[in-house]
Amino acid sequence: MKIEENHYGSDYTFIPAISVAHGTGTEILPDLYCYTVQIVNICLIGLPNAADFILVDAGMPRSADEIIAAAEKRFGSNSRPKAIILTHGHFDHVGAVIELIRYWRIPVYAHPAELPYLTGKKSYPAPDSSVEGGMIAKVSALFPNEPIDLGSSVQPLPSGGMVPHLPEFRWIHTPGHTPGHISLFREKDRALIAGDAFVTVRQDQLFKVLTQKLEFSGPPRYFTNDWEKAKESVRKLATLHPKVAVTGHGKPVTGEQLRAGLIQLVRDFDHIAVPDYGKYIQ
Ligand SMILES: [Zn+2]
Ligand SMILES: [Zn+2]
Repeated sequence: MKIEENHYGSDYTFIPAISVAHGTGTEILPDLYCYTVQIVNICLIGLPNAADFILVDAGMPRSADEIIAAAEKRFGSNSRPKAIILTHGHFDHVGAVIELIRYWRIPVYAHPAELPYLTGKKSYPAPDSSVEGGMIAKVSALFPNEPIDLGSSVQPLPSGGMVPHLPEFRWIHTPGHTPGHISLFREKDRALIAGDAFVTVRQDQLFKVLTQKLEFSGPPRYFTNDWEKAKESVRKLATLHPKVAVTGHGKPVTGEQLRAGLIQLVRDFDHIAVPDYGKYIQ
């Protein structure tokens, strides 16, 4: 399939959700830059002005121009990443990916178990607007769940944890939020890109999303349907003892705050993360 034939799910649409972090970028490490598109984070990995860099996740629908501008600001005009790595295929993480690969002509990588949702074969379970939670959970029925079709533009990540173009990073399978969800980890500085395996804001609560109040939370609850696996994934990430973490939603977190937050999230996962009721609660 040619890139020109790639298409979004038929329910894809601009979602007018915003937070105070929208449009801000943070250099968390010299080669790790996090940028917030409305309510979701993308990461650019690479030293400023380097010829080699990688984009992790692809923002919200209609955010391609903004993502290209953020990349060019950091890496120079007409710069382009070597590839896009997807933590998973939810609409708020692939929202601009088609425009980006048309513009940059670069490959996209994702976990093999996520590919059906990225090649038009399978829809995600519908968001659960009945789940225990705040206003964003209530309106989540509006969120797209039909699959994007990236055809041959998306390729499986190599088995064994290697990440194309990022020799120091390993991908870690962290299912639960979605079947093929991954996180990225670098041993030397214990940097973690967690995706939505856990997040640092209560993503279902409108006011907390708006203000980006820091709060260790499980994966966004309206879109999570295997809580046992989600719990196991957070436990797996905690055992890595990350020193720096960027999550798919919320502020980056480091040091003692990260250490203590993860310990508490693992210990009280059933209380903090798992909703009291909802259609994906067994
Ligand atoms: Zn997600
Ligand atoms: Zn997300």
